[in-house]
This record gives sequence, structure tokens and C-alpha cells, in this order.
Amino acid sequence: NTSQHAKYYDILRDAAVFYYKNLRVHPEAMLYLEKRGIHMDVVKQFGLGFSNDAWAELLKSMSQKYSTKDLESVGLIIANKDNTSYYDRFRNRIIFPIINPKGKVIGFGGRVMDDSLPKYLNSPETEVFNKSQTLYGLNLAKSKLSDKKQLIIAEGYMDVIALHTYGFTNAVATLGTALTADHGRLMRRYADEVIICYDSDFAGQKATLRSLDVLRGLIDKVKIIVLGENLDPDEYLKKYGSDKFREKIDNAITATEYRINHLMQAYNLNNDQEKIEFLSKAVLIIGELSNAFEKNLFIDNLSNQLQVSRELIAQEVFKENYNAN
Ligand code: ATP
Ligand code: MN
Ligand code: MN
Ligand code: MN
Repeated sequence: NTSQHAKYYDILRDAAVFYYKNLRVHPEAMLYLEKRGIHMDVVKQFGLGFSNDAWAELLKSMSQKYSTKDLESVGLIIANKDNTSYYDRFRNRIIFPIINPKGKVIGFGGRVMDDSLPKYLNSPETEVFNKSQTLYGLNLAKSKLSDKKQLIIAEGYMDVIALHTYGFTNAVATLGTALTADHGRLMRRYADEVIICYDSDFAGQKATLRSLDVLRGLIDKVKIIVLGENLDPDEYLKKYGSDKFREKIDNAITATEYRINHLMQAYNLNNDQEKIEFLSKAVLIIGELSNAFEKNLFIDNLSNQLQVSRELIAQEVFKENYNAN
């Protein structure tokens, strides 16, 4: 099994080299990356590559050295319907090798260069690739954590690459899957604090709320960056630059602030009935806090913001807390 895995790592490494070399002879792929602000030094740093618009380029090259069975086991090739032949999984895509903290290539992501679908394709789960335990970019980020030991978690490949390029070398991403407790435990090994910076679109907000639930109890310090304008970190950095993003980090908000802000968006607070509904739910969120000073802070804020008596809100917060015990 261990020797089997060692062979799989060799295959995946060879494939990464194959895609990497192939990128150099495909100006259209280099041009695509250039257009997205990814220059040669970054291509090298992340080992980016390109898979040809052909059915069996990788298969042809690698089947001299490895069996089709092994190539299939690591997710690089796919059997056709009646199992008579194989074809490459990644075709006509920019290739992002996924490298674990030990420096082993464990899988790939591939992006089309136009609007065709699916936009991204990942390796399937294999014996050496488990998406819910893998963070893209951790191989690079882990050695660059400052004393603060803070990780930024984003949604996508391009976000991680842009963040590293703009100097935020502590960025990682999940691989098109929801954040899991395993991801949380993995981050906890390297970091004391996690900053969630997902796309600011609706899907990203949903994913942020879900991730906060997952990380609760796993990571003590979790903060959230809200970028706005439906931007993702890659787009934000290109539009506003690294100083503005640094400010976003400095002003990152807590989980409770995020939850309350998100809840607030759903209500028209000029309407008394809606205001009551919002408050009834907000006190539940505040009631979950274990720190009484923190509770008081949020009670003060709500009281000021909504012109409701502080004592009344406090009464509800502590009543909810009482019920929970
Ligand atoms: P780009 O900037 O290249 O358009 P993105 O990262 O902004 O990419 P999103 O649509 O925001 O793309 O998706 C976030 C991440 O989710 C992607 O980086 C990828 O890891 C994953 N993802 C997106 N679409 C798919 C898909 N069809 N299959 C698998 N994973 C996907
Ligand atoms: Mn998105
Ligand atoms: Mn995005
Ligand atoms: Mn993007």
C-alpha cells in the first residue's frame, strides 16, 4: 500500500511536469494566464500547466512508463463506456497541481480558457486525494506564516494565486467543496487564527455562514472579510490593490458581527413588525456568546442602532441563554 502510494505520487509528479512543460509550447494558454495577471514567476511558483485539446496526449506519453490501471487509479485517465480504451480526464485546460504540505502532488484542478462548462474540473477522490482534507496552497502558505499564525481561506485557485502574488502568502482555499471539520483541524495544525474571505456574492455569503458553523469550537479565532460589490479576492486585489486588502484584514469582523449583519439584511428595520422579528433572532445569536463582556458589547450596539432600550435587549439575551442551559 505504501509502495503503491509512492508510485501514485511518482505518476502525479510526472504528470505535473508534463503539463508544465506543455504550457511553455502553448502561447494561447500563456496568453490567457498573462491576461489574468499571472506571470512566469507565478506559473513556476504554483507549477501551473496546460493540457492539450486532444483525447490522449497524456495517456500516450505516460503509458510507456505506467500501466493504464495506475493512471486510472490516480484519476488522470477515464475508461470509455465499454472499457475498451481510455482518454485523458483533463483536456484543453489550464492545470493547477494540488500539492500537499509534504510537497507531494496529489491531484489537479483544470480551468477552461473560455466560457464553456464546467469551468473547473478537479481530480476525483483517489487513494491519495481527499478533497475534504485538502487545502490548495497550504504547501506554500505553511512555511510563510508569521508569528501571528494566521491563515486566510478563500474559495478558489485564482484567489489563492492572486493573494500570494499581492503578498498575502498565508492564503489557502478549499477545492470547490464546502469547508469540513477536517479542513478546520488541518488549519488548526498551522494557525491560531483563520480569516474567511469568500466571494461576496450570495453563494459566498451562504458558504461563509456554513463555514462559521463548522469552525465553531474548532478554531478559537475566526474572522471574516466582506469584500462587497460581488467581488472575489482575485477581482478585489486587481481593482483596489494590496493596501486596501490589508485594511480589509485589519477591519475583519467577528463571527457574531457577520451573523448579525447578514441577518439584518433580510429585514426592513423601519417596519415595526420586521424590527421585532429581527431582534428576536438577533438575541439568539448574541445569547450563544460565552463571554458576558462580548454579549454586552453587542447589546449596546443593537440598542444604539435600533433605538431600543438596552435593558430590554439584555433581558431577552440572558433569558435565551438561561433557556439554553
Ligand atoms: P475564476 O476567477 O477563474 O473564474 P473562481 O475561483 O472565481 O474562478 P468560482 O466560480 O468563484 O470561480 O468558484 C470558486 C471555486 O470553486 C473554483 O476556484 C473551483 O475550485 C471551484 N469550482 C467552481 N466551479 C466548479 C465546478 N464546475 N466543478 C468543480 N469545482 C468548481
Ligand atoms: Mn463564486
Ligand atoms: Mn470566484
Ligand atoms: Mn474569480
